[in-house]
Amino acid sequence: VPEPNAFAGAGLDRAGPRRSDPQWVAAALADPDARAVVATPEGVAVDPAEPGRLLRAPAHAPGIDSILLGMEHGHPLFARALRNGKPGGGAILLNLREFAPEADVPEAGIAAYATAMLTWHAHHGHCARCGAPTRVVDAGHARRCDACGAMHHPRTDPVVIMLVLDPERDRVLLGRQASWPAGRFSALAGFVEPGETLEEAVAREVAEEAGVRVRDARYASSQPWPFPASLMLGFTATYDGGDPEARDGELEAVRWLSRAEVEAAARDEGEILLPPRLAIARRLLDGWLAGDLPG
Ligand SMILES: [Zn+2]
Repeated sequence: VPEPNAFAGAGLDRAGPRRSDPQWVAAALADPDARAVVATPEGVAVDPAEPGRLLRAPAHAPGIDSILLGMEHGHPLFARALRNGKPGGGAILLNLREFAPEADVPEAGIAAYATAMLTWHAHHGHCARCGAPTRVVDAGHARRCDACGAMHHPRTDPVVIMLVLDPERDRVLLGRQASWPAGRFSALAGFVEPGETLEEAVAREVAEEAGVRVRDARYASSQPWPFPASLMLGFTATYDGGDPEARDGELEAVRWLSRAEVEAAARDEGEILLPPRLAIARRLLDGWLAGDLPG
């Protein structure tokens, strides 16, 4: 079984059927073995002596909503926001990109899950339907508007990210954004729009960003990407014609890279930089080099 992508694999029992029972949630908060990870949209609190491990604070914090993440080794694990912007107790804040390389798979997954939940709460204090304040229900897995009765649920926005393969010439199509470090190229990507399938989104985004046609989009793997609320859906797609050209302003360049060029970049040689190892784009590229991608 391949290792999950970074930020996946939190491995908690999310207690979905139980967390809507207020009595069960109150008992979980009062459990002396309950703990909370502490985070903000900017970072997660860690003990500097153990930077790969999230701080686990007492769960109960008066005046702050505790969001149930789930059961960890039989005990409730919550997430909560910082009280005054500082983690306290000698802890430090690391952003997720700093934390993930230090952490093991479940710990990075919990960090991403907690960050995604707390960011959603921070951004959804008011009802999207009527504008009135909302309040936390279902142990933090929903917010309710008492003014109009609307229930709001945490969002995950699907993004397709695709490696365009040209099997005839053994090359891949990558693009770069102007803001990236010099020389970095990565897989094309874009938000899925209402009214389209994932396969349609793959073809549309490749046409918009690079001006080429693709066929046979095939799913490879996915990655939670809480910056702030995406789920990256990794695909391969087969080149079906057209000359690549950066078109829609999102990318400053698109180009084919040969297998030899990508192999050199994976060894940190040459002018081309690949995406960081925690990104699914890198996983797709490594999969292509290893010959174990669909398509
Ligand atoms: Zn409302």
